Amino acid sequence: MVNIDQVNFQNKRVVIRVDFNVPLDDNFNITDDTRMRAALPTINKVLNDNGMVVLMSHLGRPKKNPDPKFSIKPIIKHLEELLGRPVQFADDCMKAADQVNTLKPGEVLVLENLRFYAEEEGKPRGIEKGEEGYDEAKKAVKASQKEFTKTLASYGEYYINDAFGTAHRAHASTALIADYFDADHKMFGYLMGKEVAAVNKVMTDIQRPFTAIMGGSKVSTKIEIIENLLTKVDNLILCGGMTYTFKRALGGKTGNSICEEDKLDLALDIIEKAKQKGVNLYLSFDVVVADRFANDANTQVVDPMNVPDGWEGLDCGPESRKFYADIIKKSKTVLWNGPCGVFEFDNFAHGSRALAEAIVEATEQNGAFSLIGGGDSVACINKFGLADRVSYVSTGGGALLEAIEGKELPGIAAIKK
Ligand code: AMP
Repeated sequence: MVNIDQVNFQNKRVVIRVDFNVPLDDNFNITDDTRMRAALPTINKVLNDNGMVVLMSHLGRPKKNPDPKFSIKPIIKHLEELLGRPVQFADDCMKAADQVNTLKPGEVLVLENLRFYAEEEGKPRGIEKGEEGYDEAKKAVKASQKEFTKTLASYGEYYINDAFGTAHRAHASTALIADYFDADHKMFGYLMGKEVAAVNKVMTDIQRPFTAIMGGSKVSTKIEIIENLLTKVDNLILCGGMTYTFKRALGGKTGNSICEEDKLDLALDIIEKAKQKGVNLYLSFDVVVADRFANDANTQVVDPMNVPDGWEGLDCGPESRKFYADIIKKSKTVLWNGPCGVFEFDNFAHGSRALAEAIVEATEQNGAFSLIGGGDSVACINKFGLADRVSYVSTGGGALLEAIEGKELPGIAAIKK
């Protein structure tokens, strides 16, 4: 595998898979351009070398070809502003060869939404798995997927994957395309490289003690991650809504708190596995409960084993916060996924803020490597304005979670092989 910095792209055509799946409002204005900005270093590297850039991405979940609601065209103007140069557009990703072939060094062409074609994902549309005719339809898409992938590959002498957000999908543009390039002509972009390095630091190259904080609403969505982390961490802090499933499993009374009654055995199993593996598993011993699910609800601090009837736990309590903060500050590796309270309500964001501040302190004063990722914890650290004071905030929700589950991501494996 070659490193992007080792390559001079002068006069070379480079096809780059980016994640331009940005949120658009009803008037097709971009409401958050983070993903576009994240791809700029890679695009600019090729342009500064005087290479020719062909950008490809998906946007949303189109159901047909074309599906104007999901066109990539509305984002071209903003890309021109970000790059400070004109950007060309190919309104059919399968009919772009003429435009690709007339590109000059320093020019950029963006392909229309790859998912206008079912071949990108390799599964039929308008018919669900299990329905009559699905298997035949899938076979047909798979048969034409090769030609689709080959056409995309023909647009570049080099292939760069910088779309970590879709690295967990074995799609044409994220994984299959890599087979058309030898090891010297395919590579990670800068963003992908940073994400892969961050994952390595919590999965393989671990400095100890390693503390993982898993929060969020439910244990059921985090089982595989927790099980994999039990083989890696020294300390596992389980907080947020899942606290109450554990407390109930331990014989507690949890009032109206969120609780997955069908996961009580699983919770006990996790506690037992942590013991066997010598992992310190921590659950909150005081929590802030509310008399209704609202920011201005009445509150009190109670033992989560004994939540009064009619009250629900919405944040971890002040003593648990201090206890967690101490553990975090002494750690050399910290991974945080999932808030420890309903942080969207300011009155129940104190626990998550205390954890975020402890992570910052571990990073800045203890030299810890800290990775924040997977959905809501990113929104949470951004809300507190602390995102640039931790080691890395991942851009890939689902992709990061699958990587922490220990799965090999197809988009990464395809470049490495
Ligand atoms: P997840 O998507 O599973 O990471 O869950 C994130 C959500 O969990 C956030 O929207 C939080 O508001 C929510 N959450 C955190 N703690 C609690 C709690 N004690 N009760 C209910 N929801 C919670």
